[in-house]
Amino acid sequence: MKNRVYNKEEVKGAPAYMDQHGFTLIELVVVVLIIGVLASIAVPHLASAWDDAKASACKANMKQIEAALELYYFEHGEYPTETNFTAENLKLKSAPTCPQSKQNESSYTYTPAPTNNKNMGYTLKCNIHHFTITETAENFNPSSSAQ
Ligand SMILES: [Zn+2]
Repeated sequence: MKNRVYNKEEVKGAPAYMDQHGFTLIELVVVVLIIGVLASIAVPHLASAWDDAKASACKANMKQIEAALELYYFEHGEYPTETNFTAENLKLKSAPTCPQSKQNESSYTYTPAPTNNKNMGYTLKCNIHHFTITETAENFNPSSSAQ
């Protein structure tokens, strides 16, 4: 199919649609294919950028929980038990969840590490990203607790 301009002489007697200039089917198919190729290049990059953003948000959540756990420690002299590990006890508005997790899926696991019946350490882990924050009695020992 040739793409050409019809002059008045040729169009005479032809149906009205032939008088209008437009794209041929081939041109449209080529454009759609080009858009498809460009999209297939861009989409995987967008997806990985999205995952990176979620991983960063997950780390930020864990830092927030860590800070809340330190406040709890200074108030109670030990880290919370597994059952006391709640948003309310940690004075958080809501329990942070990993942005990569599905709804109502528990994403963070908190495991206290007792020393002499006191929770002097803990492990906080994201079950999806496998990020881990570990606090042990050895690497953090405030002088105020010595009394
Ligand atoms: Zn996570």
